[in-house]
Amino acid sequence: MITTHVLESMNEVITNNYSNDHKAIDIVPSDNSEPNIISINNGTVETVVNDIKSTNHKSKGLDTYGNYVKIKQDNGKTALYAHMKYNSIKVNKGEYIKKGEVIGTIGETGNAYGKHLHLEIQNKDNIKENPIVTLKENSTSSTKNNNQKNVQKNITNIQTNTSKNKNHTNPTSNNNYLSAKEYHHGSIVDALKSIGINSSYNYRKKLAIKNGITNYKGSYFQNIKMLNLLKQGKLKKV
Ligand SMILES: [Zn+2]
Repeated sequence: MITTHVLESMNEVITNNYSNDHKAIDIVPSDNSEPNIISINNGTVETVVNDIKSTNHKSKGLDTYGNYVKIKQDNGKTALYAHMKYNSIKVNKGEYIKKGEVIGTIGETGNAYGKHLHLEIQNKDNIKENPIVTLKENSTSSTKNNNQKNVQKNITNIQTNTSKNKNHTNPTSNNNYLSAKEYHHGSIVDALKSIGINSSYNYRKKLAIKNGITNYKGSYFQNIKMLNLLKQGKLKKV
């Protein structure tokens, strides 16, 4: 469970975990909103790029980040927030900002497939480490823990109510889309399996065509794009 939020709407869904091929995590909101990104720690703004207008899948090096902000945190680590919306960045180079302050808005600039936040953390030795450790840092206060338990209870209640309501309402509105909002890992195959949908290559190819993912070859980025849609409940059924 995330205890340090990075989206102002506090409904983070991780669509791509940290791995050797992707030393960062990708985050989307659980709904179709376009939330602000907030700082995960106090620190000084080191780099701001705010003038990239669009997605560019041929970009190289730093350009792959699109609009991004790099913050040298008080704990000595560096946080990098990438793919932000054009001209949405609210902080300036050299500015000291606090945890929870708005940095900018989630976007799809640079080498991004779908709107998401790509978050990287580098330690003092410039080694990229798993940002999930920061996001899931345990609170030491017992009061806080109790509050979290209550919040969790409320969430469970809301979910129970929602599923009850579903039985009484006309379900046609969601019948055209697949959704795997409960899936929190990085594999499209596993995500489809988790909701009982055929995950074979041929079936994914059909899903790709239906969802405008052209020339599907099961590449990393194509799969992430499909996974992002699925996690947001926006993957069109075949
Ligand atoms: Zn990423």
